[in-house]
Amino acid sequence: MNPLPTSELRLQEAQDALEQAQAKGNLSLVADAHNALGHLQALRGEFTQALANHLTALEQSRQVGHKPSEFEALRGVATLQHSLGNYQEATKYFLRSLALGRELGDVAGEVGVLNSLGMVYLETGDYQGAAQLHREALEIAQANHDPYGQANTLSHLGVAYQRLGRNPEATLFHQQALAAANTLGERQLQATALENLGQTSARQGNLEQALELHRQALEAHRALGNRLAEARTLLSIGAVQNQLGQGEAALAGLYQALSIAEDLGTHKTLLETHQSLSEILEASGDHQRALQHLKIAAQLERSLFKEQQVQKTTALLAGFQVEKVRQQAELERSKNIELAEALQKAQEAEAEKSRLLERTRQQAEELERLARQDSLTRLHNRRYLEENLEREFAASRRYRYPLSVALLDIDDFKAINDTFSHQVGDDVLRLLGQILENARREVDSVARYGGEEFVLVFPQTELGGALIACERVRQQVERYNWSSIHPQLKVTVSIGVSDNPALGNHEKLLAEADEQLYIAKRSGKNRVCSLQGSIEKT
Ligand code: GH3
Ligand code: MG
Ligand code: MG
Repeated sequence: MNPLPTSELRLQEAQDALEQAQAKGNLSLVADAHNALGHLQALRGEFTQALANHLTALEQSRQVGHKPSEFEALRGVATLQHSLGNYQEATKYFLRSLALGRELGDVAGEVGVLNSLGMVYLETGDYQGAAQLHREALEIAQANHDPYGQANTLSHLGVAYQRLGRNPEATLFHQQALAAANTLGERQLQATALENLGQTSARQGNLEQALELHRQALEAHRALGNRLAEARTLLSIGAVQNQLGQGEAALAGLYQALSIAEDLGTHKTLLETHQSLSEILEASGDHQRALQHLKIAAQLERSLFKEQQVQKTTALLAGFQVEKVRQQAELERSKNIELAEALQKAQEAEAEKSRLLERTRQQAEELERLARQDSLTRLHNRRYLEENLEREFAASRRYRYPLSVALLDIDDFKAINDTFSHQVGDDVLRLLGQILENARREVDSVARYGGEEFVLVFPQTELGGALIACERVRQQVERYNWSSIHPQLKVTVSIGVSDNPALGNHEKLLAEADEQLYIAKRSGKNRVCSLQGSIEKT
């Protein structure tokens, strides 16, 4: 079995890489693989397939937003359009890839694209424009300390100067490129520089030197296995040998070129080889064989023209297609942006709505709280007291635990108001509220029942326990230093306590406490009374 040619092997590798990327479902890798395939196919002259791969890579890289792949794809499409002679399309894609390369900060890529653009300029006959672009590329490569970019650009610059007919400068650039390639050990660049130098030498009439340089280039191309370049160099050698009158040697070289070109199936090189052969044979007097090659050349030219036209048309259509895809993607993007904006607004409105609802809920909660709070003392108010007491009474019934309640009234409060002031009276109410609040246990609750009357609720507490708690409160109030409100102020309270679980409802419990309070007042104030009796001031 014959081993596969290198390009076949690499193509197979690229194909495998594509399949693996597809299996992984990684679109960035798939795009890269399409680019790699496209690149290899382009080298083989399979322009249409190559274009399809680069266009696929372009679409996929855009879908996933992978810009380095998009850059490679744009560059690949541009290079192919260039190869196919669609210079306008090539320029369009090169300019796009240039912008993207700059955006990505891919300086080496930018240099490469500028050089490619220069080659398009050359094709259109704008040699000055080409030289200008290559000079720009050279500056960028120098600033970027990119020796490969510099060497490559020098080579391009040399070609542009060659076209401008400025051979001495062209030679200089090619020599610099060669020196740089030698330093870098870049063999492809070395070979190209040698070939270019050979061409400038031939143009300047230094045929021997040209022959020598072409031979070195030929060796370099052979070492690299670059067969197409080998064939083209053989053509150059043949042309120089012909000029030197070495017809036999020229023919031998051209036949070698012919067999390579036939092997590779590259029509363009094949056509040029047949044309050269025809010329040399004609010059040597072999009219019959010269005519044969001329006929083949004519046929090739026709089919090449047709092939080029088909490929050009396909490429232009593909370019048109990709433009449409791009426009669609942009439309989609702008639609998505509109949608996202609408969604954002809806979300903001929703957030605003819940903010308002939350505020309303908090306000309602606050109102609810305020509705059960006494504004002067900040204790619970009568409304809360009644709800709470009703709850506690029901619970004590259900779970059969004791419940005591106390009604507290400030003694001679009217006199306090009258003697000191209503303001002092208010202060007394506030301060008493604090004393009661601080004195209560966690489970107990205190409320202002109205005026200068307060209610204490003692859940799960027998009358005895409630009496002790109330007596402690009474003493605290009596002993409290009220001079912070007024120097002569003295305050005492009377408390009535009840705990009778047999009573039908909480109102009756409260009414009994009120009765006991009345008894406390009648029996001299500043005391705690209950059905069990009173605890008088000690
Ligand atoms: P007793 O010892 O019998 O309870 O005598 P008293 O003066 O405390 O009883 P009375 O019910 O006659 O007086 C209660 C007074 O409390 C009448 C009212 O002006 C006053 N009062 C009620 N609410 C407030 C209030 O919010 N602030 C002030 N400063 N006084 C109030
Ligand atoms: Mg009262
Ligand atoms: Mg009173």
